[in-house]
Amino acid sequence: MHVPFCRRKCGYCAFYSLPGAAPAQMRAWRERLRREFAEFAAASAPLHSVFLGGGTPTLLPPSELAGLLTDIRAAFTVAAGAEISSEANPETVTPEVADTLAAGGVNRVSLGVQSFQPALRRVLDRAGDPAAAETAVPRLRQAGIHNLGADLINAIPGQTPPLWRDDLRRALGLGIAHLSTYALTREEGARLADSFPPANPELEADLWEIADTETARHGLHRYEVSNFARPGAACRHNQDVWLGAAYLGCGPAACSFDGALRWSNPADLNAWLRDPVPRETDPLPADRRAAEILVFGLRTTAGWTRDLFQERTGFDYLELRGRELHRLQDQGVLAGLPDRVYPTPRGLLLHDHLAIELL
Ligand code: SF4
Repeated sequence: MHVPFCRRKCGYCAFYSLPGAAPAQMRAWRERLRREFAEFAAASAPLHSVFLGGGTPTLLPPSELAGLLTDIRAAFTVAAGAEISSEANPETVTPEVADTLAAGGVNRVSLGVQSFQPALRRVLDRAGDPAAAETAVPRLRQAGIHNLGADLINAIPGQTPPLWRDDLRRALGLGIAHLSTYALTREEGARLADSFPPANPELEADLWEIADTETARHGLHRYEVSNFARPGAACRHNQDVWLGAAYLGCGPAACSFDGALRWSNPADLNAWLRDPVPRETDPLPADRRAAEILVFGLRTTAGWTRDLFQERTGFDYLELRGRELHRLQDQGVLAGLPDRVYPTPRGLLLHDHLAIELL
């Protein structure tokens, strides 16, 4: 569920979100969301994962947040043991918000920290108190939510290896079970994109190595190009997306995949409020779609078994891209063929290269 509201627009951010939305806009969004749920609910399998992302889901007033969580359960069957995740801006996690999330069944929260360093936050134009995460974590635990994660950004201009190590240690010191960390990129549409210097691959490789070492010291391991988790704490929603499972995205700018067809909602609240929603479909031929899913799954350290890939796509990966896969294995980027295929540590660093070769 895409919650497209933020307190203000961060300078590095190119996601669709509306800063300073009025309560009436939030009410209209929720009303439209209920109709979008109704459109898909009858055909939906029981949900084993629900993900509230944004935007800033925790910016919703507690009554709207509680109402949203009730609407989801009223429209869909949520499977027993489902993972119900919410992204959260640490500063918005008041005791009331933490209790509302827990009462609504949310059992996993990912905190958007980005950096604890005031100077680096200024570079990102990320407002807020860097220490807010240290208040939010015990609040969420007190409310009963123990599966907690944090997002950090690396390769920020001015971020030295010691500063990066310090960010990692402060985040991991909170006892989190999951860490997502993305290298800062010049995203088209982000206000500050042009002011960021080009990527420095050597420095980035060093920063990834530091992340591997620091997370391992806290019992987390890398399970995807940009994600680390304790055993059993990998994000179910993201794994489904990477490994070609069907998912339904609701809200403006949300994307969906039913196992064959991918479609996206308009990245514009007013356009999405219309009936019917003017959606864009992405009509790839089945073999191209399967190649895309192959590449996505190779973001994960476990990669694919031949059987799982066949089950999800209907294709055998060796018939689909055997020559390319073997070449990448010879280059030391992939391993495990023929019954499995997964990226080596070098393959994780060179995922873009791998994608170009396979698509
Ligand atoms: S980075 Fe997150 S909080 Fe900042 S504008 Fe983007 S979606 Fe909103």
